[in-house]
Amino acid sequence: MCGIFGYIGTKQNAPTIVLEGLKRLEYRGYDSWGIAAVPQQKTSHKTEIIVKKQTGKIGNATIDDMPPSSFAFGHTRWATHGGITEQNAHPHLDCSNTISVIHNGIIENYETLKRDLIKKGHIFASETDTEVAAHLIEEYIKTMPFDKAVRKAFNMFEGFNAIIAISSIEQKFVAVRNGSPLVIGVGNNEHVLASDASAILPHTSEVHFLQDGEMAVIQDEKMSLYEAKTGKHIDPTIQRLSWSISQAEKGTYPHYMIKEIHEQPEILATIAEHSVSDVKKLAAIIASSYGGYMIGCGSAAYACLAGTYLFSKIAKRHMNWAIGSEFSYQQDFLTKKSLVIALSQSGETMDTLEAVKQAKAKGALIVALVNVMGSTLYREADHAILLSAGPEKGVASTKAFTAKLAHLILLATALADDPDRGTALVKKAALAVNSLLKKRSLERIEAIAEGIEKKEHIYVIGRGLSYPASLETALKIKEVSYIHAEGLPAGELKHGPLALVEQGTPCIAFLPNDETYSANLAGAMEMKARGGHIIGVSYKKHELFDTYIHVDDAEEATIIPQVVVGQILGYHLAVIRGFDPDMPRNLAKSVTVK
Ligand code: GLU
Repeated sequence: MCGIFGYIGTKQNAPTIVLEGLKRLEYRGYDSWGIAAVPQQKTSHKTEIIVKKQTGKIGNATIDDMPPSSFAFGHTRWATHGGITEQNAHPHLDCSNTISVIHNGIIENYETLKRDLIKKGHIFASETDTEVAAHLIEEYIKTMPFDKAVRKAFNMFEGFNAIIAISSIEQKFVAVRNGSPLVIGVGNNEHVLASDASAILPHTSEVHFLQDGEMAVIQDEKMSLYEAKTGKHIDPTIQRLSWSISQAEKGTYPHYMIKEIHEQPEILATIAEHSVSDVKKLAAIIASSYGGYMIGCGSAAYACLAGTYLFSKIAKRHMNWAIGSEFSYQQDFLTKKSLVIALSQSGETMDTLEAVKQAKAKGALIVALVNVMGSTLYREADHAILLSAGPEKGVASTKAFTAKLAHLILLATALADDPDRGTALVKKAALAVNSLLKKRSLERIEAIAEGIEKKEHIYVIGRGLSYPASLETALKIKEVSYIHAEGLPAGELKHGPLALVEQGTPCIAFLPNDETYSANLAGAMEMKARGGHIIGVSYKKHELFDTYIHVDDAEEATIIPQVVVGQILGYHLAVIRGFDPDMPRNLAKSVTVK
């Protein structure tokens, strides 16, 4: 969702620094953008903040028309309240143009507040909920300093919000959050603020992850932290980011998505080598729990489903799973002995966080598999394991998904008291993915994508562990190529979906070297008999296949190379059809609203 970037320090090109920062956050998805700067030179007795905003993507936009400044911030908006217009783009100003606000989230009670402010004479320039914050702060500074006014305004808001406000008169930068992520980078005589840590890396690796209910006030190279509710002073917790700048950049690849697909063999091999001891500790916690639920949204939900198969098959252990947003309707039985394992790339997915909050309230133990250190889920969990996939920028999750699967395989084998087997399986998967990423294999998958790019529907079938692989493959295709794709357990075909098969309907069939092979082949046959065009994804050819993608057998870890086939296919379908796979329409990377 929206991107936030701010700079306050000694450099005088703050607007350019902010524009570059916003570009690093573009992957989060947005529909308009804007930058506000406090000019270096006073133009009158009170310095007016200069704002530039536009609808659409940043593209080649420049900000040469903005004045020199060492104090600026910007925002990429993912509209919730008010259409996608220049007026509604952030930053917003108060009536005097000396206070500016950017915001992520929804101020749920904005209508009442707005009515009140209009009665008091405030003039609104946009339809957003956000603008209420600028005018409310303007109202409060009549009787108190700027930072106190921001705090008071923030405490009036209902909903989950991150608000950043600047004052050109007091030269203060205030950031406060409750639900939406914010990270503050502490550099040499400068501070940068962003909605995600990877955007801060070019400036510094020393960061404080602003926690829910915390407020940061930055002035004259100094940052002070307070509890938003009480105003009580608190100390920052400075952490060092382990990510490198190159990990967060595209390098020579045309898109983040394909770069991240290519990073997978190395990530998997590293997980196999280094995650075992963390996983063993977690396995002991799972072993002593009474009833477990895995929860996640989107790809993470499919990883949860895969987890239930892995736990059953390898560890002979029952594990439930639920989609984050559905969990609240099926958790009445949770007790203090229950265990909830939450999976998330960003650790900021609102639906997952909400589910975790509810489970916590019931006393359940929370375990997290999460990619972002310092994220809300990382902090909220009783025990957290970092996925070690490095920053993921493609909206469609790739390496974070396979990193989740790798950890689940390690967990299941550790529970079965056979951790070495887990290491061997994940290493096997890494090699199988490596083979898929060889030139010949990539060209083959691209050619298959060319053959089906004009189709309206694609079906993906699997059984057992290949069923979540089918769901994830279909999701990848949908997300980036906008072709309707559906993942199905092959056994369900005859209960309805077969009615949709026509001459030439593409059907991707996962046929691994396991107990599902014959039954899934029967499903592919049912498709073929009705005109289906069978794309077999298997460790061996079969005469039934119209085309064939070879995937090495990696035993229970074969699901990993299977989904990589789906990733590569989805990527090529998007590119061939002329879409940007890194920024799929209507989608955002980190879904921080409900
Ligand atoms: N609710 C605000 C708006 O619609 C914030 C949107 C965002 O988080 O990008 O302008």
